[in-house]
Amino acid sequence: MPTLEELYRSVIMDHARYRRNFRKIDKHGVYYVHYKNPTCGDVMTLFIDIKNAKIEDAAFIGDGCSISMASSSIMTELIKGKTLKEAGLMREAMENMIRKGEEPEEDLLGDAVSLIGVHPLRARHNCALMPWQALDRIKENVY
Ligand code: ZN
Repeated sequence: MPTLEELYRSVIMDHARYRRNFRKIDKHGVYYVHYKNPTCGDVMTLFIDIKNAKIEDAAFIGDGCSISMASSSIMTELIKGKTLKEAGLMREAMENMIRKGEEPEEDLLGDAVSLIGVHPLRARHNCALMPWQALDRIKENVY
């Protein structure tokens, strides 16, 4: 039986290798933002298609370490079909999990729970939070 840590690691590696929603959304009215994590050199462009305060589609392109790419892949899967408010709750839980090591409410963060091991690695916090910070930038522009 694999340990929980091994299980989480394999989830991260799978998302980093087979990035979900790794594409551009080339459509009128789509929000996008370029984001760079200077502490690690990770870069991404996040695309979000929002209709009536609901995230219809989410995708990204970019390059960086496994943690940042896995986190981006996981986030785009998580927020698709959610309202901006629901995505905000996830974003808060993600922040508390990475920065404070708090376990999220069951099922709220899906595969993102696998990133809880990043908590003790301070230098990697921004890698795990990068896509969520990019999402913040987009939300600032929506309102
Ligand atoms: Zn990184």
